[in-house]
Amino acid sequence: MARVYNFSAGPSMLPESVLNRAAAEALDYNGSGQSVMEMSHRSKVYEEIIFGAQRLFREVLDIPENYKVLFMQGGASLQFAGIPLNLLTGSGKADYVVTGQFANKAYQEAQKYGEIKLAATSKPQNFSEIPALDPSAFTADADYFYICHNNTIYGTKWPVLPNTGSVPLVADVSSSFLSEPMDVSKFGVLFGGAQKNIAPAGLTVLIVRDDLLGRARKDIPTVMDWKTVADNDSMYNTPPCWSIYICKLVLEWIRQLGGLAALQERNAYKAKLLYDFIDASALFRNPVRHDCRSMMNVTFVTPSDDLNAAFVKEAAAAGFVNLKGHRSVGGMRASIYNAMPVEGVEALVAFMKEFEKKNG
Ligand SMILES: *Cc1c(COP(=O)(O)O)cnc(C)c1O
Repeated sequence: MARVYNFSAGPSMLPESVLNRAAAEALDYNGSGQSVMEMSHRSKVYEEIIFGAQRLFREVLDIPENYKVLFMQGGASLQFAGIPLNLLTGSGKADYVVTGQFANKAYQEAQKYGEIKLAATSKPQNFSEIPALDPSAFTADADYFYICHNNTIYGTKWPVLPNTGSVPLVADVSSSFLSEPMDVSKFGVLFGGAQKNIAPAGLTVLIVRDDLLGRARKDIPTVMDWKTVADNDSMYNTPPCWSIYICKLVLEWIRQLGGLAALQERNAYKAKLLYDFIDASALFRNPVRHDCRSMMNVTFVTPSDDLNAAFVKEAAAAGFVNLKGHRSVGGMRASIYNAMPVEGVEALVAFMKEFEKKNG
């Protein structure tokens, strides 16, 4: 059976070698006579998987000693509440930058729990850029400062991180996780759903600096208290076992490729192929301010909705699927996460060239 090039924003492509390995181990994982889907999370054989995944996560992302890696459930969306519930217990204040729908959802959710300020937004620019910040307006005694690092729907990414001084920076990295090296020490908390770049849906990874544990409100669900999760090695209750196993295989694949620096080079090359073609095209256009362009989600439009629809339809028939933009913005979006091979982007560009010739 021929596999398609899948440009879905998430859940999204996984490396073929990882899928093959999981298939080969589906009935008998490592001589255990069981599938990872079936085994107890308290077994020795599973402990090697979850601890191995945590160890590899630390190694691949070069996570400092004073941070914990937590494997949780509920998606990035549950952490929109988890963040204020765990952190908003000092001054009860936090600053948010709203750069798109997911940042806005986090901002709305946090308002249930404290005094939340909108530090900046790019809504007037239809989220086509990351807004300028005025650090003198930041809340000096805020419990944290919140950003969404890569805006999946609009195809934007923070070109430089805000300098928040001693206020912990909290970032949703759902769609940029493990796509490039990151200086974890610049953040208090990093978190994201795994289904974009890391594993199948069901796993949320949260990296938290030690001093931010143990601050949670007393009335929150036990499984949402990061300290409980950390103290129990992410196994206070049953973790998303299968997703964590695939996460481990993906991390092994990243290491084999040469780590995040090598992956960043490959990802930047893929993004440049697509942006360069779009910039030179008379038919396609990318609406994002150049210095804010995402390396993972590339949005583009033609001059008409009819032509956009025709493009999405013809592309799908040619084996390029899920190119339709988010329902709220229209147009097209090619999500080119880690697992999208260079050939997939080259083939898409060739298809776009042909489409332009016929319709330009
Ligand atoms: C997909 C996505 C989310 C939502 O993640 P869930 O795991 O579905 O809750 C949040 N933030 C960003 C940036 C995303 O891309």
